[in-house]
Order: sequence, then structure tokens, then C-alpha cells
Amino acid sequence: MEFNLDNFKVQGVKVNYYYICKRKLWLYSKGITMEQNSDRVMIGKLVHENSYKRLKKKEVLIDDMLKIDILDNDYVREVKISSKMTKADKMQLIYYLYYLDSLGIKKKGQINYVKERRQEEIELTNEYKREIEKALIDIKEISQKKKPPELVKLPYCTKCAYYEFCFAKEV
Ligand code: SF4
Repeated sequence: MEFNLDNFKVQGVKVNYYYICKRKLWLYSKGITMEQNSDRVMIGKLVHENSYKRLKKKEVLIDDMLKIDILDNDYVREVKISSKMTKADKMQLIYYLYYLDSLGIKKKGQINYVKERRQEEIELTNEYKREIEKALIDIKEISQKKKPPELVKLPYCTKCAYYEFCFAKEV
């Protein structure tokens, strides 16, 4: 059966969370948002606003859902503090490229890792297209579940905004 993006559109952050932690994705999908309290998220926002100011960029809001930075008409850009979550960051950007591609807009992707002062270029391949379709199907399924995925401790849990939610013990 042909994949129909209209049935699976989500915010880019959900794709990111899908690759970080399925439980985090579920919590966010249910409207349980604690990210605004996270210093890391605040820092991320500031970095995004202040970095690479010299570059010509245009912020575009697509379908009231995806806020994308377009650079020099050729690239879509994501700014990240560090490359600790490379796979998640990459797939979020690939999702943007995929989404634009479905609208007939061909772009390449560029991730700027601010801490390492490093850039990575990404192109949308057929393999990536299939991978993102599978991820979008899974995201829908996880988001519709009544209960969150089982708690599994991950190396980055202590840095997660949901840490207390997941690990708080009664005293
Ligand atoms: S604290 Fe760990 S298990 Fe809980 S949502 Fe965050 S990453 Fe996932």
C-alpha cells in the first residue's frame, strides 16, 4: 500500500523523540510537556536564535506545524548544541526534507553543531525515505497507545526533562 503522508504528519520534535526514547515520545504526544522547564531546552532556543547570524536565512512555517530554517535557497538547517543525539537530529532533518519533497520542493540538509563548530550535510535518499515512513507509522501507533512504553533506563535519562516524572520515588 502506498504511504500517504497526510495521514502521518507530525511535528519534527516527535520524530526526534522517537529516535531518542519511545516513552518520551508518548509523554509528549499526550501533552505532558516539561521541556519548557529544562535549562537545556532554554539554552537550545538561545543558541538557535543567536548562532550563525551572518547567514542569510528564512524561517518558514509549513502547514502550521513545521518551522524550518531555509538557507541560501538550497539548504534546510537545524542548529544543535552538540552531536550527542546525532541519529535523532539527522532523522528530524530528514523528515523535513521528506516533507518538503512531498510538496515538490527539493532541498539538502545541514546540521550545525555549535559546541563542536561542525557542520554535517544530509541528502534525502530512497533508504531514508523508507526509514522515515516506517518511523512515522510507528510514531502514530505509539502516540495512540493508552499506556506509555515500559520504562527502560537509558544513558541520557538524567539529562531528560521527564527524568523526575519517570524516576521519582515516593518517600
Ligand atoms: S527519563 Fe529516560 S525513560 Fe523517561 S522519557 Fe526521558 S529518556 Fe525516556
